[in-house]
Amino acid sequence: MTEKSRYAPLFESVRIGPVTAPNRLYQVPHCTGMGHALPKTLVAMRAMKAEGGWGVVCTEYCSIHPSSDDHPYPFASMWDDGDLGNLAAMADGVHEHGALAGIELWHGGSYVSNLSTRVPSLGVRSSLARTDPIQSKRMDRRDIRELRRWHREAALRARKAGFDIIYVYPTHGYLVSEFLSRTLNQRTDEYGGSLENRMRLMRELLEETRDAVGDRCAVAVRFSANGHGEEHLNEDEARDVIAALGSLPDLWDVVIADYDEEMGSSRFVAEGALEDRVSYVRRQTGKPVVCVGRFTSPDSMLGQLRRGVVDLIGAARPSIADPFLPTKVREGRLEDIRECIGCNICYAHDCRGAALRCTQNPTMGEEWRTGWHPERVPAGTGGSVLIVGAGPAGLEAAHILGKRGYEVALADAALEAGGRVALESRLPGLSQWARVRDYRLGQINKLANVTLYLDSRMQAADVRAFGADHVLIATGARWRRDGIGRWHARPIEPLDAAGVYTPDDVLGGRVPAGEVVVFDDDHYYLGPVIALKLAGEGARVRYVTTEGRAGAWSQNTQEQERTQRAMIEAGIDIEVNAALTAFDEAGAALACVFTGRTHSVRANALVLVTSREPDESLYRALQGEDDENAGGGARSSGPVPTVQRIGDCLQPALIVHAIHSGHRAARELGGTEQVPQRERVLIAEPRDPS
Ligand code: ADP
Ligand code: SF4
Repeated sequence: MTEKSRYAPLFESVRIGPVTAPNRLYQVPHCTGMGHALPKTLVAMRAMKAEGGWGVVCTEYCSIHPSSDDHPYPFASMWDDGDLGNLAAMADGVHEHGALAGIELWHGGSYVSNLSTRVPSLGVRSSLARTDPIQSKRMDRRDIRELRRWHREAALRARKAGFDIIYVYPTHGYLVSEFLSRTLNQRTDEYGGSLENRMRLMRELLEETRDAVGDRCAVAVRFSANGHGEEHLNEDEARDVIAALGSLPDLWDVVIADYDEEMGSSRFVAEGALEDRVSYVRRQTGKPVVCVGRFTSPDSMLGQLRRGVVDLIGAARPSIADPFLPTKVREGRLEDIRECIGCNICYAHDCRGAALRCTQNPTMGEEWRTGWHPERVPAGTGGSVLIVGAGPAGLEAAHILGKRGYEVALADAALEAGGRVALESRLPGLSQWARVRDYRLGQINKLANVTLYLDSRMQAADVRAFGADHVLIATGARWRRDGIGRWHARPIEPLDAAGVYTPDDVLGGRVPAGEVVVFDDDHYYLGPVIALKLAGEGARVRYVTTEGRAGAWSQNTQEQERTQRAMIEAGIDIEVNAALTAFDEAGAALACVFTGRTHSVRANALVLVTSREPDESLYRALQGEDDENAGGGARSSGPVPTVQRIGDCLQPALIVHAIHSGHRAARELGGTEQVPQRERVLIAEPRDPS
């Protein structure tokens, strides 16, 4: 049996009510940070997934009314006919490639703050919004009638826009799930009290959506198979809801109560982790079921089908990391799949109100604005390229330049490729990050015109002697050992150098023991992960951060709470809102970030996770700025003409930035800079500048 035929079950069509999905690979609704704000960017991105073979491609949460406004997060909107055109363009883009288009109608209830529309939010009772000190208006019967009307009108518009699958969305804490909650819903009328009453609104929306559009569109429901938590809708009640309404929708898109787990990062949640909680739904409803699981392995997908868990393989992140995953599986090119690493950087940018991007897929979000295709690159102008540094940036550049036909030499001082990814993926919970290296090495290995030289430290003279037409410097960055970062603009004093460690030391095998302070002024994963590693190896660890929570930025990647819990459980002392101000034989001095009051703690070692310095010595030497590093004084014919920096050497940042930087440089080499198009509202035709 060939790989192709082995995975044939994934490519069977599936009937969903009145429509038919061409295969079982289903991009479930996922947020993008684009929504109503960046429609062209969004259309091109969604259409790309359809081109890559996803059988169904859905929108993100699509607001049905101005009382559901999640500003500053760019949600989709279907408030009036003015929204029709943009959403129709998305449906058309998806249809062009033979996929079905789905739309997730949504009302945020008390969760939203309506910062943009300034109308009161609505709730089953008056409750606080998720982030602002604003409460919702308690809905009366008229409001409920209005809500049903808005939902129906939005469904009709969605049908008009060409959507094939229309969602009712009674979960994730939004309005309809408030009605299901036995704690929040204290109504005494037919919408409150018994479960039958609490699910009345959900039932009505399903019936009315079917009535409005069911002749041509499938009605889907996104629902948590294990309820919404004990105090809202417990697991038994969720089962009762599914038993009662099982046959009403044409499709059950099932999720679980704990969002941190449903879209958990690979640090905490494995592929396919939802199976045991959702597998009963299909048996109970007899309707097609779709569920996510960060599936990147077609064998895991097949397993889900064989075990009767689902009919359709749901994907958000795997479709972001590789829009062409279905095509690659169908063609038996499994080694070409760019597997999601589960870092949640995609989600983090939506949380930051910015357009989607992806660590593994640098073309994500660039389909329209820069015209990048995830599988195609333009042929180059010929010539040779030397890339120094085989971290994420260097590997990405080498792989893309190789595909563009250049003669590429990729040199690294280390004995293995991967730079920071090779090292960091050995830290607790980060093993899947090695996929960043492995995918690119796999691609490079297939290219006869790319050669990897390990154990090859390059100095300026070596680079010049190599004689390449173009040089890319991807030498990365080093963690500072003087404490400079967000808090300290100047080196910390006193600082007993012998006891100071940086993440580079720890990653390189120089690991402190005994009583260790980890000072985290970086606020993402590395400080907590290093603290966990040291605690796991027996050190007594005190984690100190200038933020109010451990690894505070990781709230954007949906990891913060689990991170802090894991640290507490590992016995790590956590001191927040504190800065390290001194470290010597006596120990460490810590200052309150508000009052400046200090206290001392015992410590024989200090790990500084503050900021990094770009390692640009080679670049500067090639520019003739630093004779010392010019390689034994062999400065000869002046700077190499096209030398440029990429990745952390240019701008120390996240892996997603390094990959993007390497990709951009590789696309632009030999041509002109690609200036992204801007998507903006223009109130007048551009005028002639003269
Ligand atoms: P990025 O994230 O930008 O790709 P990394 O820090 O992950 O950066 O990788 C930088 C790589 O560059 C490391 O693997 C390191 O060994 C390599 N490197 C640094 N300086 C030199 C040099 N002079 N010659 C060869 N390799 C180098
Ligand atoms: Fe996966 Fe990370 Fe890409 Fe998101 S950003 S799709 S989690 S690799």
